[in-house]
Amino acid sequence: MNDTVGENVETGFFRDDVIQPFLLESTGIRGRVVRMGPALDEILKRHDYPPIVNELLGEVLALTSVLSSLMKFSGCFTLQSKSDGPVKMLVSDMTSAGVIRGCAGIDDVALKELLDKTEDHSTLSLTDLTGKGYIAFTVDQGEHMERYQGIVELEGESLSECIKGYFKQSDQINTGVLVNVAQIDGFWQGGGMILQYVPGDGGINQQVDKDDEEIKEDWQRSMILMSSCTEEELLDRDLSVSDLLFRLFHEEQVRVYDQRPLKEGCRCSREKLANVIKTVSAEEVDSYKVDGVIDAKCEFCGRSYVFDDAEIAEIQSESDQN
Ligand SMILES: [Zn+2]
Repeated sequence: MNDTVGENVETGFFRDDVIQPFLLESTGIRGRVVRMGPALDEILKRHDYPPIVNELLGEVLALTSVLSSLMKFSGCFTLQSKSDGPVKMLVSDMTSAGVIRGCAGIDDVALKELLDKTEDHSTLSLTDLTGKGYIAFTVDQGEHMERYQGIVELEGESLSECIKGYFKQSDQINTGVLVNVAQIDGFWQGGGMILQYVPGDGGINQQVDKDDEEIKEDWQRSMILMSSCTEEELLDRDLSVSDLLFRLFHEEQVRVYDQRPLKEGCRCSREKLANVIKTVSAEEVDSYKVDGVIDAKCEFCGRSYVFDDAEIAEIQSESDQN
């Protein structure tokens, strides 16, 4: 691990894994900037997917962190694509405590075929890789709360374009989003920025006197400023996120709030898997056995959970009692 990354030993969070909330006071537009360093590097290196898949999954992780950090909820936010192309699935989730994970589902044969016949992989579009499908996001706040889901077709140049499309078609809220992912000196680095204008939520300076035309101008100007942020700036670890925001939005009176940390982590457990075994039939359980045991590997973190016959029998007897 790079020693400049700055792990806080007490919390286990890294300085370069951070969420920065902000407000453009002149217009009431809110936003978040996210930097992902060790968290992203750890997740992508563990999976060891081809670089082009790492980039896509990195984008999903960066999008997950900006979208979920903008939402007010207590629970888990999930972003997941499902499609019929070489990259069949991309999934990432983040808890409101800032713990993030992600993985991809790949058709290895189809992906190899596509990469072999494409000279310059940077020319591949999103849908060349994913095929036809959709991307959905879900906010899960536990058993007794309403589950919120949004869904949009996979199309356009990038995943952030899809997400922008979703916000455009779904409601009155203006949302702009930008993400970048790159491997710099062998180290995966990601960043994201999101702007959102909620009518009536004018922040500190309530926009009492602004008409629709002025609000529209405010929004367009802020979007232009955000899109002027280069990949280098967004991913530059020597440029703090607050300095970056000031550089981009100083004329909009940018106010930054307390940073929130994020980190990589999985929530899998033996207990959760035992609960899955409980819900399936005895025949299905048998079909999962190899050499008399079930060896279940977590798709996110790679941890392996082995259940032998005696343990499986015990789990099944518990489910019979219920
Ligand atoms: Zn896991």
